[in-house]
Amino acid sequence: MRRFSLASLLKESTKGHTGWERQWRAPEPKKEYDVVIVGGGGHGLATAYYLATVHGVTNVAIIEKGWIGGGNTGRNTTIIRSNYLFDESAALYNHAMNLWEGLSQELNYNIMFSQRGVLMLAHNHHDVVTFKRHVYSNKLNGVDNEWLSPEECKAFCPPLTISKDIRYPVMGGALQRKGGTARHDAVAWGYARGADARGVDIIQNCEVTGLQRNPDGSVKAVETTRGTIGARKVGVVAAGHTGVVMGRFGLRMPVESVPLQALVSEPVKPCFPCVVMSNAVHAYISQSDKGELVIGAGTDQYNSYSQQGGIHVTNHTLDAICELFPQFTRMRMLRSWGGIVDVTPDRSPILSKTPIKNLFVNCGWGTGGFKATPGSGHVFAHMLATGEPHEINAPYSLDRFRTGRLIDEAAAAAVSH
Ligand SMILES: Cc1cc2nc3c(=O)[nH]c(=O)nc-3n(C[C@H](O)[C@H](O)[C@H](O)COP(=O)(O)OP(=O)(O)OC[C@H]3O[C@@H](n4cnc5c(N)ncnc54)[C@H](O)[C@@H]3O)c2cc1C
Repeated sequence: MRRFSLASLLKESTKGHTGWERQWRAPEPKKEYDVVIVGGGGHGLATAYYLATVHGVTNVAIIEKGWIGGGNTGRNTTIIRSNYLFDESAALYNHAMNLWEGLSQELNYNIMFSQRGVLMLAHNHHDVVTFKRHVYSNKLNGVDNEWLSPEECKAFCPPLTISKDIRYPVMGGALQRKGGTARHDAVAWGYARGADARGVDIIQNCEVTGLQRNPDGSVKAVETTRGTIGARKVGVVAAGHTGVVMGRFGLRMPVESVPLQALVSEPVKPCFPCVVMSNAVHAYISQSDKGELVIGAGTDQYNSYSQQGGIHVTNHTLDAICELFPQFTRMRMLRSWGGIVDVTPDRSPILSKTPIKNLFVNCGWGTGGFKATPGSGHVFAHMLATGEPHEINAPYSLDRFRTGRLIDEAAAAAVSH
């Protein structure tokens, strides 16, 4: 794989950039792989990358029914933070945060990771108590998070209104300075390029439709729209469609699929320096490098696979945004879209073995899995390579819904991004 560098860029610029090779191949599926990953989102691609780089497992295929990154990875608002409540979450999300910090260099691909700070606003007494609890818990776990007064919130994010006479008054906020954003497509493309260069086959426009099993019940092959592909191990990483895929394999998952929406404004000059989230009103906002205000809404209340949500949900979000930032009232919205998110009962993900031998699942990231992409891929690769969970993902088993040992991040994940 040719490295991106100043020298290679300069050299190509003299040749009209005609010498760059394709970022990844479009191979025909082989008859059999050591590992087949179902789902070419960020988590699936990261898993393949770490399988190859950390574990030396390169006879791997990623099977994607559409195009890589076309699911929630390419639809999310890219907020990255690690200030969840419980020890298990601190371990998982901070593992991801540590990997984010070196990811552009590791992948030799600019993922535009920007640690501009994520400020979570408190609008009522309950928010204040909850967020302060998070701050104390995070400090114990070495996760940066600090409490700001309304005036300190305003100093950190000057466009914010802290008037007490509005419907959602700002009573303070929890700030994670290390939090921020990254370019979602670049994350998918960077992992894809790195995995492909090490021999992983990325097979797009190929839907997994079923599972074949050996006489002892273990995984034998996946059935796809491009034929049967043999697999010693299978990892399902299909986000909002995990229930569908696992249903085809004969397993029922404890996940619900609901639409989650986002929208962007017309582009304007840099005016918004950080990420602001308001869990109580289900609204969050940042500014992309193109200048668009990136605005996220809450989930729809009804299960659906429609990839678009109800207009009243975005209306409610924009009402709240306009009240907190009245200067944006006259901006025009350019695009809106939805993704299907996979929500678990305790709002924490599932990275687990399954009742079928050599079938593993990575799902349940719901409204907030982009931030975990590198960490999730890293520990899931360990699981696929060794057959056993990494110590970080051991608590995230399917079993917890039987034993009751839940990791209840509902408060941290009320909006969650
Ligand atoms: C509007 C919105 C905003 C969000 N904002 C944030 C945020 O700010 N921060 C954050 O951390 N998270 C956010 N999220 C959540 C985040 O996007 C997801 O948790 C994360 O991207 C999941 O990544 P993934 O790789 O698991 O899933 P995906 O990227 O969805 O990849 C799964 C892939 O599986 C493929 N697939 C499905 N079925 C099959 C099949 N049968 N055969 C083959 N392939 C199949 C799909 O086509 C898809 O490409 C948001 C989500 C949405 C929708």
